Amino acid sequence: MLRGPMAADAPESTLESSAASPLGGVGDSAREALSSALARAYSDFDLYRSRFLGAGLTGEDIRTSRPLDVLWRLPMLDACDLPALFRQSLDVNRGIIDVEASSGTTGERKRRLITRGDADLETRVLARAFGICGVVPDDRVACLDTGPLTLMASFTEALDHLGAAEAYAFTMSTDPTATVDGLAALDPTVIMTIPSVLERVLGRLHERLESGRLSLRTIVYAGEPLPAPARAGLESLGVEVFSYYGSSETSTLGIECRSHCGLHLFTDTAIIECVPGSGGADERVVVVTTLYQQGLPLLRYSLKDRVRVINGPCPCGLPYPRVEVLGRADGSVSVLGVKLSYQSIRDAVYGAVSGAGPMQATLTGGEPDMLILRLPTRLADREKAIRESLFGHEPDIAFLVGAGFLGLRIDFVHESSWHGFRKAHLADERNAPEGANR
Ligand SMILES: [Zn+2]
Repeated sequence: MLRGPMAADAPESTLESSAASPLGGVGDSAREALSSALARAYSDFDLYRSRFLGAGLTGEDIRTSRPLDVLWRLPMLDACDLPALFRQSLDVNRGIIDVEASSGTTGERKRRLITRGDADLETRVLARAFGICGVVPDDRVACLDTGPLTLMASFTEALDHLGAAEAYAFTMSTDPTATVDGLAALDPTVIMTIPSVLERVLGRLHERLESGRLSLRTIVYAGEPLPAPARAGLESLGVEVFSYYGSSETSTLGIECRSHCGLHLFTDTAIIECVPGSGGADERVVVVTTLYQQGLPLLRYSLKDRVRVINGPCPCGLPYPRVEVLGRADGSVSVLGVKLSYQSIRDAVYGAVSGAGPMQATLTGGEPDMLILRLPTRLADREKAIRESLFGHEPDIAFLVGAGFLGLRIDFVHESSWHGFRKAHLADERNAPEGANR
């Protein structure tokens, strides 16, 4: 039985569209892909079916209505919906070849199942993105990262697909000199990395570039914003810098082109909505609908990234729309590209003591950066179990601490001084002025 404005005999055009509109328009093949994605979501995923039905949409509506009109009727999907989607995807998808996981802000890790089809599409989209950055078959590309947990395996695969002369993962050590010396021996023409990793080796890299002992001409960075002075310094030495844009839930979304006027978003593999956020008049929040993602199909998923839409055609001639990324609003803090979230850490800590309670978490700068957790004194005799639980639930933190990239200190604070002391977020004081770290 149809409800609301969806009369049984209504022609497809009478469905009311919301104010939402897709960035850059939606082409015929994207429309067709959306139609299939909607039908699959309805038939295979309980979570989506209940959302369709809640919005007054039946399977018949999905088959006969215009796909965009159906999409706009759905409510936004949030990070807290991802665990249920993940579990339903396990029942539905065969041939899972990988799982991408990152620290979630909901207390449960964000996990994306990757099918063979997902991986193949990812390779093609990444290869296109790197081609836009001017990576050519002659290039020798180093993917510089902290270690096996965050290694950019999909990057090297795409570079092989692109026919790059060399494409390899290079693991940074805690010693920047040794890292740059090792890299220089391989003499890459392109480095793909994470800004906080780059910043650690920037001084040594500059020395090498200034003395002409490095063929490096391109840097592609991902995962975090790159401070403007770091970019300007590299550009002054003839290195062209590109920002890659993606997320753990969706993989590649866009890339900066050689005109360097914002990021192009690939609107042929995802429908992107930029909806008003809580910021300034120009600020928008990115909402993504994946067209081909099988392991974690997303319909109107709010990424919570804040952007500004750049209107008009780009001098580079690419047809994809452009945005400037203003920041992420998911509350996580990045350490060398690994996202840490207060909620996940607190759940892991209190998982050791079967209960819940307050925690203060602060990240301070230094060699290495230090994660300081403050817990009530009643837990003081449980420190070993708390550390084990934290490392068990947060393998990225275990890796960073084990490899010496991050220190961990747990302080136990008397309950009498606890009042007015708690902060339900991870305070990032790494760039605070001297003396401000407490
Ligand atoms: Zn462009």
